[in-house]
Amino acid sequence: MSSKLPARYPRFKRKHGKQSSYHCTGIKLGQGEIKLPKLTPIKARIHRDITGTLKSITLTRTTTGKYYASVLVDDGEEAPASLQTVGTVLGVDMGLTHLAIDSEGNKTANPRFLKQARANLRRKQKALSRCQKGSKGRAKARLKLAKAHERLANTRADFQHKLSRQLIDDNQAVVVETLKVKNMLKNRKLAKHIADASWYGLIQKLAYKADAQGKHLVKIDQWFASTKTCAGCGHKVDKMPLSIRTWDCPGCGTKGIDRDINAAINIRQQGIIKLRAEGLSVPANGGMRQSGHASVAA
Ligand SMILES: [Zn+2]
Repeated sequence: MSSKLPARYPRFKRKHGKQSSYHCTGIKLGQGEIKLPKLTPIKARIHRDITGTLKSITLTRTTTGKYYASVLVDDGEEAPASLQTVGTVLGVDMGLTHLAIDSEGNKTANPRFLKQARANLRRKQKALSRCQKGSKGRAKARLKLAKAHERLANTRADFQHKLSRQLIDDNQAVVVETLKVKNMLKNRKLAKHIADASWYGLIQKLAYKADAQGKHLVKIDQWFASTKTCAGCGHKVDKMPLSIRTWDCPGCGTKGIDRDINAAINIRQQGIIKLRAEGLSVPANGGMRQSGHASVAA
């Protein structure tokens, strides 16, 4: 008898993960309930008044066993036309010491809840791995861990919503650097901090909030030396180690400019170039609310 490759254990589908189902026919919204095909109506807490034509319902079960329905409706309103003249442009440098530093000199620290949550998650993860597989205790520990993750995700999303709301409301274009984020994720030592800072989530929220108002999110995705270039005179240096926090320019002699604010101003300038290349009109100084380099030193 010829022997075959050793049989493998079957691969189980995850039972506990996030699951979702999408429905676009036979759906209806009632008073405090939703109707899906072939099911008795499901009781639901409906948070907002829903007006328009119902397009689809997506049901989601989270890892902690909560159910959500997201409802897509067509309200018949067109999205606002995108602004052709961009008066105020903000450059945002996303960093490790701060989540966001903008070209106006504002710094948003990485929220502290992430650091606190990390210790909590590690403790719960350890508790879980001590439990015997298949045991009741393990199921409980797993749920505890999933709940902690869910809380963290909610808090983080809330924080990102508030920040992106403010940035988009106050400006007509926001410029971010996306390639740097990718590069930093490759560096494993930095990866954990970055996962925490979760720039991707912030960029996504900026993008759709900008769209909804006809504003612009400019993504700088080609490499440019935002931290190695002087925002005042364009002088470029070969190296700018992370440990050096201020920009002292050998080109124009400017001293003591915060390195991240310098980078944010460069990002903003790149964004203005890109907006103009797309045929949009940006006033001479891009609606700069400050006279430039010197006032940034604060
Ligand atoms: Zn310079």
